[in-house]
Amino acid sequence: MKYRSLLFDWSGTLVDDLPPTLHATNVVLAQYEVPAMSREEFRQRFRLPYPEFYEEVLPGVAIADLEDTFRSSFNESPEGVTVLPHAREMLDWCRDQKIRCFVLSSMDEGLFMEQARAFGLLDHFEEIYAGVIDKRERIGGILSSHDLEASSTAFLGDMVHDVATAKHGGIDSIALGTGYDPVERLVESNPSHFFDDLSKVREWLDQSQSKPVSA
Ligand SMILES: [Mg+2]
Repeated sequence: MKYRSLLFDWSGTLVDDLPPTLHATNVVLAQYEVPAMSREEFRQRFRLPYPEFYEEVLPGVAIADLEDTFRSSFNESPEGVTVLPHAREMLDWCRDQKIRCFVLSSMDEGLFMEQARAFGLLDHFEEIYAGVIDKRERIGGILSSHDLEASSTAFLGDMVHDVATAKHGGIDSIALGTGYDPVERLVESNPSHFFDDLSKVREWLDQSQSKPVSA
């Protein structure tokens, strides 16, 4: 079996929250009289760890001063969060395969819990790591505290930072083209695997999981 454990990013990997994220970001920018960004400009400029992005667009402004506005504007966005196509099927498939699943996300923990509960996805995960600013700093501890073997664990995500995090932890990175980072940038970051969406991941794993374990 290829993977016994999978770590999932949340935004852009299992859910599409780009519309409310863009809305909330633009409300924050407006507070400081910075012009709103288009969806494309946001995708070009946004990056993780997100304090770097805010330092670039709002230099000298403390993140703590932005967070309340961001959270309330996110919840008031005219367009809400949706579960990405194939995400539920992927998680159900993992359950059937007895693959241990975890979340490793930068999203605010409160927002994450609201969404995961509302979508009925929470009990798919053995443990949640949300509100993680720099995932590279946490990956090693997560692997060791759950006894996850590096050779049979992968991190699925939609951003260059997710690929870097997997590399940092010595595990495979599975990059997905459903999220925030432009596909060219994601591919340039040299992930172990790239797929257009989670249905392609599942097809690929379904084939490789059925093969006998190599010695
Ligand atoms: Mg993401």
